[in-house]
Amino acid sequence: MTKKVVVIGGGIVGCITSFFLIEKGYDVSLVDQSAIGQEASWAGAGILSPLLPWHYQDSVNQLCFGSADFYRQLSNTLKKDTGIDPEWTESGMLIFSATNQNKAIDWCQKNHTEIQETEDRCLLLPRVAQIRNPRLLRALKIYLINNNVVMIENQRVSPITDSSNSIHHLQTEKGINLEADYYVVASGAWSSFVLNEIDAPKIKPIRGQLIQYPAIQEKLSHILYKDDFYLVQRQDGVVLAGSTSEDVGFDKGVTESARLSLQNKAEELMPMLKKYNIQNQWSGLRPGSQGNIPMIEKHPKYNNVYLNTGHYRYGLTMAPRAAKIITDLITSHG
Ligand SMILES: Cc1cc2nc3c(=O)[nH]c(=O)nc-3n(C[C@H](O)[C@H](O)[C@H](O)COP(=O)(O)OP(=O)(O)OC[C@H]3O[C@@H](n4cnc5c(N)ncnc54)[C@H](O)[C@@H]3O)c2cc1C
Repeated sequence: MTKKVVVIGGGIVGCITSFFLIEKGYDVSLVDQSAIGQEASWAGAGILSPLLPWHYQDSVNQLCFGSADFYRQLSNTLKKDTGIDPEWTESGMLIFSATNQNKAIDWCQKNHTEIQETEDRCLLLPRVAQIRNPRLLRALKIYLINNNVVMIENQRVSPITDSSNSIHHLQTEKGINLEADYYVVASGAWSSFVLNEIDAPKIKPIRGQLIQYPAIQEKLSHILYKDDFYLVQRQDGVVLAGSTSEDVGFDKGVTESARLSLQNKAEELMPMLKKYNIQNQWSGLRPGSQGNIPMIEKHPKYNNVYLNTGHYRYGLTMAPRAAKIITDLITSHG
């Protein structure tokens, strides 16, 4: 009989996990407390790489390797099957004033990552790609529905409190019963609520704000990066500038100070932006974790609950590897 999996959280992590699970023949329901794909995964910049990979532990980078290739193929599939183009683009990333360039070059050589030194002492990572994440999420949702994933939106799953060592059903706050053989917690910044870890949460929200310039006439040669700040241009010319990192709980507001700070950095890096007005500003709550190391594992207590959360700054990039790990764990469970 087909085994049933309930995935809690319809961000990129939950959607890609569902994508892998249906490929293996599972019967998948994806539950979200609001609409699918409207939280951090919608808000992010869509860069498919850690910003400076050599600053992270190997375990972080290992989860990111291969991501750009995965999304290139997925993008083609989604474009064909849904008519929505997630705009996968190999933009490359140009890094200004990189300190310790030798360390960066060394790391890239050891990790088979292409890197070039430019004449003006910048570093170029030519294989860094980007994807237009709001479109990706929109297309993925349609694809998953077309492939029989049941979408349950506007249903908040209550904390897991069962005293036995396996879960037979979970409930939403509106009283819907979610029966399944397996559960995957992919609830992003809210995961500690679902896991009932309110006193000592392992995952906590870290707000990130971005601003958007309208479609500009000039073309950026690459994603531009300087001192933890980046500019990303989409195919239609729109430019995103980000981002902040703020420990403000579940507050998703945007602030004037962030807007000014991002604007100053953007216009310093690319002075021609001064002639354009900022068109939009938004924020998202990253699922913050220690060292950016996510939890991709079986729950320590429940033998049919799996955790796929805490991808922090790189959830979009890590989602394919993370989803594969969880799918393999569930498959090997029997
Ligand atoms: C400004 C910004 C820029 C970023 N840029 C990048 C980037 O360039 N590249 C990159 O790789 N990453 C980037 N990130 C990080 C990335 O967006 C996150 O790591 C990723 O979106 C996390 O995905 P997720 O699916 O875990 O979380 P989310 O997208 O937040 O999804 C979690 C979902 O769970 C649902 N949920 C929560 N609790 C419950 C519950 N109790 N019941 C039902 N549903 C529930 C929520 O409604 C939500 O839809 C950025 C993030 C921000 C904020």
